[in-house]
Amino acid sequence: MTSRSVDSAAEVDVLVVGAGFSGLHLLHRLREDGYSVRVLESAPEVGGTWYWNRYPGARCDVESVDYSYSWDDDLQQEWEWTEKYPAQRDILAYLSHVADRFDLRKDIELETTVTGATWDESASRWAVRTEDGREYTAQFLVMAVGCLSVPKEVDLPGLEHFGGQILRTWNWPEDAELTGRDVCVIGTGSTGAQVVPALAEVVRRLTVVQRTPNFVIPTRNRPLAEGELEAVKAEYPERRRRNAGHSAGVFRSDNPKNAMEVDAAERQATFQERWEGGGINFLGSFADLMFDQAANDAICSFVREKIGEIVEDQKVADLLKPDSYPLGAKRPVVATDYYETFNRPNVSLVDVRANPLEAFTESGLALANGEQHDFDTLVLATGFDAFTGAFTKMEIRGRDGLLLRDVWQEEGPKTFLGLSSAGFPNMLMPANAGSPSVLSNMVTSIEQHVSWIADLLAEMRARGLRTIEAEPEAQEKWVEHVEEVAHMTLWPNGDSGSWYRGANIAGKPQLFMPYAAGVVEYGNALERSAKSGYAGFVLA
Ligand code: NAP
Repeated sequence: MTSRSVDSAAEVDVLVVGAGFSGLHLLHRLREDGYSVRVLESAPEVGGTWYWNRYPGARCDVESVDYSYSWDDDLQQEWEWTEKYPAQRDILAYLSHVADRFDLRKDIELETTVTGATWDESASRWAVRTEDGREYTAQFLVMAVGCLSVPKEVDLPGLEHFGGQILRTWNWPEDAELTGRDVCVIGTGSTGAQVVPALAEVVRRLTVVQRTPNFVIPTRNRPLAEGELEAVKAEYPERRRRNAGHSAGVFRSDNPKNAMEVDAAERQATFQERWEGGGINFLGSFADLMFDQAANDAICSFVREKIGEIVEDQKVADLLKPDSYPLGAKRPVVATDYYETFNRPNVSLVDVRANPLEAFTESGLALANGEQHDFDTLVLATGFDAFTGAFTKMEIRGRDGLLLRDVWQEEGPKTFLGLSSAGFPNMLMPANAGSPSVLSNMVTSIEQHVSWIADLLAEMRARGLRTIEAEPEAQEKWVEHVEEVAHMTLWPNGDSGSWYRGANIAGKPQLFMPYAAGVVEYGNALERSAKSGYAGFVLA
C-alpha cells in the first residue's frame, strides 16, 4: 500500500476520482481495454465508503455473496465470506484483496485529494488539480465518488461550547476507546441504528438523541452455515443473472400478491414470516407496499406493534414509532438489536422533535424545556450531503467556465441517465444521482455502469470521436422522468426529511435523485440510447 508508487503528474486517457467499488472496477476494466488510467483517492487505502465508515457495528445490508464483483469467476470462487451480511472490515479486506490480486495499486494514488477540474476546450481534455498541487490531464474524467461520501455539515446549536470529545461515525478513529465513557449519539438513521447497539455494550451510559424515528428492520445476521457458501459458488453465474434481472439489483423472492387483496390473517402471517427472516426482504412482503397507501399503512402498523412488543417502557416505545411518513420513503434501516437496546439500563432516549435541542453546554446538551443531559463524548451520526456533496466541494468548471457547484446548487444534479451533465463534456458519473444507485445493490449498479462506460469509450475510439455530453433537452426530460417515476410511488410522501431528495440539508434544491424504476428498466434505457447511436448525448 503506497500512495506514491506512480508518477506524480500525468497525462492519461481516463482519470478516475475515487478507489471504492466503482473506481477499482473501472481501473481494471479500462486498463484491460487498453486505456491509460489513473485513480486518485483521498484516503490512505482503497475502499471508498467502506474505508471511511468504520464505526463500531458498521455492516452492509446486502448479503455478502451478492455485495461483491461478478466480473471475475476466479475471484468469486476463491473469496471466503464468513457471515450472511458483511461487516465493514470484511468488505474493506475484500476490496484490498481485489486491488492486490489485479495489480491495481500501481495506477492508484492514495492520499491524493482532487480539488478541482477544468475543461480545456482547445485540447478537449480535463485538467485536474489536487490539494498538494499536482496536475493531471485526461480525456475522460470519471467521478467514482460515491453517493454518501461527504458528511453533512454540522448544524447543531452551540456545539463549540461542548468541552468533551466529538467523534464522527465517518472517519471513525481506529484508536477510539469508549469503554466506561458517558456517550451521546445524535442521529438514528442507518448509521445511528448500527452504532447505538454496538456502543451500548461498552459505554457506561448512552444517550440517544432522536429527531425523526425510523422503521428499523432486524438484520438477523449469522455465520454462513457449513456448505452454504459452496452452494452459492456452484451456481454463481445463475445467481448473478438473477440479481441483474431484479429491479433492486439483488434477487428477492418478492411476494407477487398485493397486501390489501389478502385477508388480515394472511397479511399478518406474511409480515411476521419476513420480519423473522430479517433484512431488506421484509420490503418484498407484498407487491404494492410502495404504491398503495393502505398497504403501506399496514406494514407501518406491523412495525409499530413490534416496537411496542420489544421495548418494555411504552413511553420509550411510543417515541420510537415512526408516524409521519410511509415505510420506505426514508431509506429503511436494517440493524441488529436496535429496539432491544432501549431495554438496557444504561441507555436512554431523548426526543428532540417534541422538545428541541436548545444548545450544547460544556458538559452536554440542554433542551428547550430546560432538561440537561450530560456526557463526555459526543458521536455524530448525522448523515451526508448525499449525491452532490462530493461534486460541489470541488471546483469543476466545464464549457465556458461553467461552475458545476453553481449549476447544481441552483437546479440540483441534472443529468441525462445519471451519467453526464450538459456543459461538462467527458465527465461521467457512475452510480450516482439520476440512476438507480442507492435504491439498488450498489455493486450491481456499478457493474452496469462500468460496462456501459467501457462500451461507450470503445465506440468513441472506433469512430474517432473526442467528446460526449448530455443533450440539454434529453437531460431535462430525464430529470422530469426520474421525478415522475418517484411520484408513482410513495417515496416522495410524508415529512421524512429524506436525503433521497436533498431534504436533510437546509437550502439544498429538492428533487428526487435516485431513479426509482430500478436496475432493469434503467438498463433498458441505457441500451436504447446506446443502440440508437447514443441518443440523448451529443458526440463530437
Ligand atoms: P441519515 O439516514 O441521513 O441519518 C441521519 C440522522 O441524523 C437522522 O436520524 C437525522 O434526523 C439525524 N440528524 C441530522 N441532523 C440532525 C440535527 N441537527 N439534530 C438532530 N438530529 C439530526 O444518515 P446515515 O444514518 O449516515 O445513513 C445514510 C445512508 O447511508 C443510509 O440511508 C444508507 O443508505 C447508508 N448506510 C447503509 C448502511 C447499511 O448498509 N446497513 C449503514 C449505514 C449507512 P432527521 O431524520 O430528523 O433528519
